[in-house]
Amino acid sequence: MEQKGLVWIREDLRLESNTALINASINHEKVSAIYLYNKEYFDNKREAQKWWISKSLESLGSELEKFNINLEIIFSDELKFFSDIKDKNIFVYWNKVYEPLQLDLDEKIIKVLNNKNIGYKNFKGNILNEFQTITKKDGTPFKVFSPFWRHAEQVYLDSIKPKEKKIRKLKKRIKIFNTDVAPKNILPKKNWYLKFENYWKVSEKESHDQLRKFLEDRVFKYGRDRDFPSLNGSSKISPYLRNGLINVNTVWSQCSKLKNKNISVRKYLNELGWREFSHSLINYFPEMLKGNLRKEFDKFPWEKNQKNLKAWKNGLTGYPIVDAGMRQMYETGWMHNRIRMVVGSFLVKHLRIDWKEGEKYFRNCLLDFNEANNVAQWQWVAGCGADAAPYFRIFNPILQGEKFDKNGEYVKKWVPELKNYPTKYIHKPWELDIKYQETLKIIIGKDYPAPIVVHEQARKKALDAFKSLKKN
Ligand SMILES: Cc1cc2nc3c(=O)[nH]c(=O)nc-3n(C[C@H](O)[C@H](O)[C@H](O)COP(=O)(O)OP(=O)(O)OC[C@H]3O[C@@H](n4cnc5c(N)ncnc54)[C@H](O)[C@@H]3O)c2cc1C
Repeated sequence: MEQKGLVWIREDLRLESNTALINASINHEKVSAIYLYNKEYFDNKREAQKWWISKSLESLGSELEKFNINLEIIFSDELKFFSDIKDKNIFVYWNKVYEPLQLDLDEKIIKVLNNKNIGYKNFKGNILNEFQTITKKDGTPFKVFSPFWRHAEQVYLDSIKPKEKKIRKLKKRIKIFNTDVAPKNILPKKNWYLKFENYWKVSEKESHDQLRKFLEDRVFKYGRDRDFPSLNGSSKISPYLRNGLINVNTVWSQCSKLKNKNISVRKYLNELGWREFSHSLINYFPEMLKGNLRKEFDKFPWEKNQKNLKAWKNGLTGYPIVDAGMRQMYETGWMHNRIRMVVGSFLVKHLRIDWKEGEKYFRNCLLDFNEANNVAQWQWVAGCGADAAPYFRIFNPILQGEKFDKNGEYVKKWVPELKNYPTKYIHKPWELDIKYQETLKIIIGKDYPAPIVVHEQARKKALDAFKSLKKN
């Protein structure tokens, strides 16, 4: 009997350059795609992403239909699913996901398939270079970004790119399993996600449109504009990239077609390099997913202060630039990169709360959450990661606001309580004379919080805590 192709869709919710899908459509007359939804990964951990994934699957399902391929969404643990497969007349295809647990899972699934005599083929995932191919001359992994990227970029440029194939339209649609559910079953229980609909259109086509618009114009000013949160200065491609609605190779090749590759374009490509670096780090040092990469930080005297943690999460710290960032994330599922650094620094330095708390909260709220970038960047902010910002370099949230949101547009958008505050006080509203606060009918400490910590005191405590590491 003719063998059917089974494509396991993972973080590659697209048709274009989806190697597993394309190969299955070329090699078989009958193909079905499955998405295994393992709720262990999502419930109370990645709530925002449930919305994104549900929307992406809806869109992917209707695109696949045009090629006579069904998308079957199945709630299951992946290993259990493959262990329980009865129909052996299949050949399984998938693209890799570069997280230690997922690569480990691949190995286990391969064993199961071998035992059942089911054929399989897995392909390079959404990455420029397979991380194993990038090491120093002595075979050890890089821990510093610049030499890593110099080498990795060259390896990528020198690599022979496979000829781009296209998905083939099949004659007949098949369904292999009978336990599939509609994408809406993945949506979070809380209606929180409804707001995301105002900010994002989720489809493969949209990811290309977003990139095209960015490359038409904004990319040439990226080096300057990307630091100012009130400007639309970055590509906002992250949730698309994270869930594989677009392939990073496509982003790269579109950039390389630009005639004018100014310094801003270089800076943009560099950021893709940081993404590669993060993936390399978590795979070479998987222990960093659970703890500090720099072990001396294991003795850091973190504060356990639920009240302050809650104020930070809710955007009620009394520091407008911090609060604006936290509210932007809760409302839109995305936060500007500069502000991610500011709110991160505030949590680990001003509040001296363990970075893992911040990582966990970002994981739950960000549409672009990805394990590699999130963990590596939190450890970068906290000073305990690879090539990290030193812990003693402490962002002053007032000065950060005054420098990157000079006219307070970003703060006024996300902290509307302060929209009538004079620009001079927008990043330190507590300094406005009480008479004016009363006129504006926004009293600091009543209608908007007074700072939960005093910058200078918090800074000193952070530095003392850091010094205590050296004494131990
Ligand atoms: C504390 C903290 C947590 C973060 N968590 C995540 C996360 O979970 N997921 C995530 O994708 N990014 C994360 N970042 C990195 C960065 O903030 C986002 O990638 C970026 O803001 C996404 O917006 P963009 O697509 O407009 O980025 P652009 O500036 O347009 O960059 C293009 C792409 O490059 C990659 N990139 C950009 N900056 C970085 C970076 N510093 N490190 C690694 N890759 C980068 C992203 O894939 C991004 O989509 C985090 C940063 C910090 C400081």
